[in-house]
Amino acid sequence: MTARIIDGKAVAERLRAGLAERIATLPFRPGLRVVRIGEDPASGVYVRNKDRAALAAGFDSATIHLPAETCESSLLALIARLNADPAVDGILVQLPLPPQIRADAVIAAVDPAKDVDGFHPVNAGRLASRQPGLVPCTPKGVMHLLREAGTPLPGARAVVLGRSQIVGRPMLQLLLAADCTVTVVHSRTRDLPGECRRAEILVAAVGQAELVRGDWVAEGATVIDVGINRGGDGKLVGDVAFAEALSRAAAITPVPGGVGPMTIACLLENTLEAALARRSLPAE
Ligand code: NDP
Repeated sequence: MTARIIDGKAVAERLRAGLAERIATLPFRPGLRVVRIGEDPASGVYVRNKDRAALAAGFDSATIHLPAETCESSLLALIARLNADPAVDGILVQLPLPPQIRADAVIAAVDPAKDVDGFHPVNAGRLASRQPGLVPCTPKGVMHLLREAGTPLPGARAVVLGRSQIVGRPMLQLLLAADCTVTVVHSRTRDLPGECRRAEILVAAVGQAELVRGDWVAEGATVIDVGINRGGDGKLVGDVAFAEALSRAAAITPVPGGVGPMTIACLLENTLEAALARRSLPAE
């Protein structure tokens, strides 16, 4: 068997085109503010891509770039201003932050109604209690890809590799809400390959280049690779050994071109959702 490759770039383009169509019908432009602190080069690329995609879809998007030595209280004051600004629907503070700023304090300072990253404890709590809220972009993008791939979800055995606050845990909640039977595995799991082999849906979010070998993948599984790592030759590689998994899986996402483009598209989707919810407008 050779797996079907799930084209995240194409799915993300369709999602963004749908958002642009919806925005064209609105009497206002949803506002997104991305805050970047310091000069982390990877963050620079992400932020530029977010801005470009947001503007192209019709959002009122801007990046606020602060120097690396910015103190926590200045950042919190900026967030308070953005929280109070009626033209701003979504606020995203690009991580990682410099060491003098506590990420938890910053995440908690964003108004949950504008928390388009979905990292605020209120939104994490809503997700876990099955209440409407803003959902973290990467796991939300994974759900879009699974639906696009036509993978049956109710009753499916899903294994999530990784238990981070931004990917693994919300992924567990979303798969559970879709009626999958979910196992979350991590660095203390005893038999990682054995657990993965049981998966009909395998979502890898560990940040370890090609940790998941071909023989960890069940025949016919759907494999979603969230990982973005630099391989030995400097190229981007996922958490899954792609070439090995290709001959076992039924469907698989590539890196790059899989989950990555979906994360930005879902950020825009969240910004539109936040804008509509703040004005009590229907989602459709
Ligand atoms: P974290 O480092 O926060 O979490 C990694 C998780 O993987 C932890 O739960 C950790 O376990 C587990 N883990 C690490 N090494 C192993 C191992 N050898 N065996 C088993 N479990 C292991 O990472 P993130 O969740 O933030 O990101 C994961 C990956 O996804 C990264 O490559 C990141 O770049 C990528 N990413 C991609 C995005 C995209 O847009 N495509 C967006 C966000 C992330 P433990 O908890 O026990 O320490």
